[in-house]
This record gives sequence, structure tokens and C-alpha cells, in this order.
Amino acid sequence: MLANEISNLPSPLIHTAVAGAIAVITYREPSGCLSKGCEKGSQFFFLFLVVAFIANLPDLDFIPGLLFGNLLQFHHHLLSHSLGLSILLAFLVSHFGLPGLPCKKSYRFWTLLLVGCSHPLLDICVYDSLGRCTPDLCGIAVGWPVISKKYFAVIPLFEAANLGVDLSSWVNWHNARVVAKEFVFGLLVVLAAIRLRRTSSRLNSHH
Ligand SMILES: [Zn+2]
Repeated sequence: MLANEISNLPSPLIHTAVAGAIAVITYREPSGCLSKGCEKGSQFFFLFLVVAFIANLPDLDFIPGLLFGNLLQFHHHLLSHSLGLSILLAFLVSHFGLPGLPCKKSYRFWTLLLVGCSHPLLDICVYDSLGRCTPDLCGIAVGWPVISKKYFAVIPLFEAANLGVDLSSWVNWHNARVVAKEFVFGLLVVLAAIRLRRTSSRLNSHH
């Protein structure tokens, strides 16, 4: 089994669900400097779009693999999956008042940092039920540039998928089960965030 035949990713489902939960919790009114005239709903939608994009950004490391005809050749093996890069990205992007993101720069920075760090931290919570992975094959250098060690299955929350070079091999029962579990997990995370938001608004309105 080659590293590029195993995927130690949770799918974009989980990254998007966690980004959605962060958007639900961090949304403030007015949240978008460049969208002041917008309705509440569209401001939240902008915030969700921005954070969902940033939450999935590290997985664009499949793009260099396109040149070699193998989507997974560099996937999860580049530094896009590191807390160091997430901190740098949050610092750089927080300088811009993107629609949907909070107006206050420090608040924007913390929101972006939370979303950016969520990706590598979720990725190291994947375990391999078929026993193919080793930290070398599937691990992620999450601590770069301070720690070079690769981490894998730190907390076994999500199952690794079976992804071959041939895209048609991606459709199988193992992967269907992996995605179904992720869907349930993602749904619970979003529902918990909505519950938390409602409880805190109720408490605030009583003060
Ligand atoms: Zn990833």
C-alpha cells in the first residue's frame, strides 16, 4: 500500500461543518465592514463562505499532484497542514476587511486563527481501521516549524478512506461508511454550536 492510496483526511464535510460551527459562534452584528447595508442573513452567509473556504484551503495541496497525474501525491505531505502556516495566514488575512469577517482586527485574527488551525487539528484525529498507516505514511507535520515530527491518530475520531489513483476506486462501502460517520459528527457539531449560541444569547438578554 502506497501513501497516496490511503487518505488520512476527514472529507471537506467535516472541515466545512466545523467552519460553520465557528461561524455560528463568532458571528457578530455588524460583522462585515464591506457589507454594511446587507441583511443579517447575507452577512452571516458571507462569514460562512469565507471561513468555509479558509477551513478547506490546506487541502488544495492536491493541485501540484495534478501535474504528475496523481491527486494524492503531495496531499497532506506539504506544509499547508501546519499550525505555523495557519498562524501566518491568520496574521496576513486579518489585515483585510473581507465581507463577512468581523470589523475589529484582533477579533478577525482570532476567528481566522481558530478556523485555520481547525483543519490540521482535525486531520490528525484520523485513524486507520485497516491498519495500513504509519506516522511516516499518513502523519502530518502539524507543529511545523517548531516540531518536525509527523502526527497521526492523536485522537481517533475519523476513519481513513480508501482512495486509489483511479477516481472510480473512490466509490466503495468503506468510504460510504466513513462519509456517513463524518456527516453525523458534523451535524452534531453544528447543532451544538447553535445550541451554545442560543443559550449565550438568552443569558446575555437577561443581564
Ligand atoms: Zn487536510
